[in-house]
Amino acid sequence: MPAKIIDGNKIAKSILEDIKHKVKNMKQKPGLALVMVGNNPASEVYVNFKEKDSKEAGFYCERYNLDNDTGEMDLLKLINELNQKPEIHGVLVQLPLPKHIDERLITNSILPQKDVDGFTPVSLGRLLCEDTIMAPATAMACIHLIESTGTKIEGKNAVVVGRSNIVGKPAAMMLLEKNATVTVCHSRTKNISEFTKKADILVVAVGKPKLITKEMIKEGAIVIDVGINRVGDKLVGDVDFESVKEVAGFITPVPGGVGPMTRAMLMENTLKAMELGRKFSQ
Ligand code: NAP
Repeated sequence: MPAKIIDGNKIAKSILEDIKHKVKNMKQKPGLALVMVGNNPASEVYVNFKEKDSKEAGFYCERYNLDNDTGEMDLLKLINELNQKPEIHGVLVQLPLPKHIDERLITNSILPQKDVDGFTPVSLGRLLCEDTIMAPATAMACIHLIESTGTKIEGKNAVVVGRSNIVGKPAAMMLLEKNATVTVCHSRTKNISEFTKKADILVVAVGKPKLITKEMIKEGAIVIDVGINRVGDKLVGDVDFESVKEVAGFITPVPGGVGPMTRAMLMENTLKAMELGRKFSQ
């Protein structure tokens, strides 16, 4: 039987509706700042989506489109201003940044309580210590999508392919926190299929089109494809969707899987950041 498709668009829509409902009755609205440097077309699309989502959710939104030659100091100054602004609860800096800007320096300058992306060392460290305040949105999206199938994560063999700080590692940590037995594969892993074939839950975050094929999948597995790759004029994931869906139990499509859920998680984090902000100011 072909896999059931996990509809990220539908699940994200219902989360956004819930947020919108909560925000409607709030006097103060959650405030989100979107910062983009340069004119990378893909980044522009992502920022447009985030702006649209935040407006639909009823948030207060400020957008900054900075020139490609913006200096590091000017960007730091803006983030510092946003860190101080009481009406801004979340700061999102769209990556990648132009080469002359140190991404890590910029990401780390966002106050942890406004780090709705969950990328700062404080956010990641707290995730590691099971004391999360803001988890990375894409890893959160993966967990939501897995749980949307009605499957309990506890006791399952989970394999994460990819070990980036923003997706692979936090996804592995969150699965571990949910009591899965977790294996992390990466570019130096020998014979990846030996591991993926044992996965009840497989999360793939690599950035290589169709890396994961049918032969690498355990029958009935939940397959979460984080990858976004442009091939010609189409977006494809890291999983060969057409073949893998013949074997998997559940699978996310690209587009329409992890992407929209990540954006919904960013909105959820912004709402949370506003509540946190209140606590910090007490
Ligand atoms: P990244 O920082 O480039 O990390 C890629 C990871 O994949 C690295 O850990 C790398 O291993 C591993 N890798 C590379 N080639 C491999 C191979 N042949 N076999 C096994 N592992 C391999 O990428 P990322 O930021 O995590 O993003 C991954 C993908 O997810 C990209 O396509 C990105 O566009 C997409 N993404 C989607 C969303 C969303 O919302 N849907 C959000 C973020 C990212 P090493 O560590 O050994 O180099």
